[in-house]
Amino acid sequence: MPKILIVEDEEKLARFVELELVHEGYEVDKAFDGRDGLEKLESGGYDLALLDIMLPGLNGLEVLRRARRTVDTPVIMLTARDSVMDKVTGLDMGAEDYMTKPFEIEELLARIRAALRTAERRAPEVKVLSSGPLVMDVDRHTVQWDGQAIELTQREFELLRVLLENKGIVLSRSTLMERVWGYDYMGETNIVDVYVRYLRGKIDDVYGVKLVQTVRGVGYVIRE
Ligand code: CA
Repeated sequence: MPKILIVEDEEKLARFVELELVHEGYEVDKAFDGRDGLEKLESGGYDLALLDIMLPGLNGLEVLRRARRTVDTPVIMLTARDSVMDKVTGLDMGAEDYMTKPFEIEELLARIRAALRTAERRAPEVKVLSSGPLVMDVDRHTVQWDGQAIELTQREFELLRVLLENKGIVLSRSTLMERVWGYDYMGETNIVDVYVRYLRGKIDDVYGVKLVQTVRGVGYVIRE
């Protein structure tokens, strides 16, 4: 059965929703503050999360923002405030849906079913990425060129993964920075260029190819 995480500091409400979900056959886990919620969400293994916005520790929007770097678990935001800004921000950050408290449990259940159906319809995650003789096995964390192993650091691997996932699409430096280093990265702004050079040193220079191409004034792309 689908496993649902409830992140809600109103313990009575969390408990009530938990009972309803368990009654529907879902497996349920709870977190009562933002940090615990983020930790659980990041650990993966949930099919869906109900995420309250007003939380102690980290608020729900911040939890969602941080979680989205690593997991794409569908999230339904919960809030007492019927704030258009919160709603827009939540959806912009990748929330699947939104419920304003107080809500009818039947409506929440219907939205949960809808969100789970949407997630199911999504294409299964690509685990093997490639470009010509270059093959990346995401799960096994390996990269090979024509069967020959290429040793990459974690960041190099992530940068290459994002470029391969978006093959044919030019990605700006800021997009790459967000996806590989995270939104709150405060270091050198030329970090992307530095890592593209590392990748070129380990791939292009060794195999005499132009894998990662520079699009002047825009960013980088791996073409087919
Ligand atoms: Ca709350």
